[in-house]
Amino acid sequence: MKFQCSSCGLRMNSGHFKQAGQVNPRLTSICDLCIQRGENPEDFANETVSVFAQCLLYSFIGKSGEDVANAFLVAAKEARKRYEAFIQDYDGNSLARQQLARQDFNQAVIDSEKGQIDFVPQLDLTFAENLQKLGLKVDFKLNEVDYIDRERIRVKYNYRCQYCGRRGRSVDHKNPVSLSRNNDLDNLILSCSECNRIKSNMPYELFVELNKQIPQANRKLVRYENALATLKGEFEQRRRALAAQMHLKGVVTDPELNQLRRQNKKLQDAIDSLTSDYNALRNVREQHFMTGWRLSQISKREDIV
Ligand SMILES: [Zn+2]
Ligand SMILES: [Zn+2]
Repeated sequence: MKFQCSSCGLRMNSGHFKQAGQVNPRLTSICDLCIQRGENPEDFANETVSVFAQCLLYSFIGKSGEDVANAFLVAAKEARKRYEAFIQDYDGNSLARQQLARQDFNQAVIDSEKGQIDFVPQLDLTFAENLQKLGLKVDFKLNEVDYIDRERIRVKYNYRCQYCGRRGRSVDHKNPVSLSRNNDLDNLILSCSECNRIKSNMPYELFVELNKQIPQANRKLVRYENALATLKGEFEQRRRALAAQMHLKGVVTDPELNQLRRQNKKLQDAIDSLTSDYNALRNVREQHFMTGWRLSQISKREDIV
């Protein structure tokens, strides 16, 4: 499913218009690149997206009503085609997505659209060549063996982050400090994206040490994650049931449907409040790492004095 962004005018996979949200995903009138660029989806209408959101019982973020024929940021249709193809290459390439954060990829496209990078992806260049011209790099030589090994690591650790215990998919070297490039399975470990991000911002040894100080917080995180997954699964089931009922009855308002909606709303409130507790704990945990790091830097400075 493709939607056209009301801001830049690019046609993109619907994923670019979907925000995870707490419970029910939200669809936006403009694409994720335009949001990253600083545009506000509430300033744009997008009838196609809003109708889809309604059918799927998602929320819609955008102006209501018909699209105003506006000047698209990428004005030339020819240029839009070139960006669309390039973005589709990225969306469909798991190696690229693994190695290159979407934010960074988006930023390069944005800089190109704004003319800050003097290059527009070319249809007759390969994906790798286009990336390179935009100052991005992906190692396409990582072969299938790497894939299988990565999957083996995930299975070995039961898809659990070895630092906090939540679900994780990132396969990393245990000790990145040793630049031995030791790719033995024993030197690889699994972590979640959050630990991975925090870890990458500080010395590895310190991260491990600080993490050992908070076993209870980590256990709590796992419990939150599990509880939320259960509730969200339940909510998703009900949402589907409601959509099916709505389809059968052929009407949008009906006492029985309203009853279902009210139940869903209650469940959604419960999920929201649990999510906010969860996020508060995640913040506190991150602060713990950041404070520990700052303290270690200060104490190092004093050693020199
Ligand atoms: Zn856009
Ligand atoms: Zn983790």
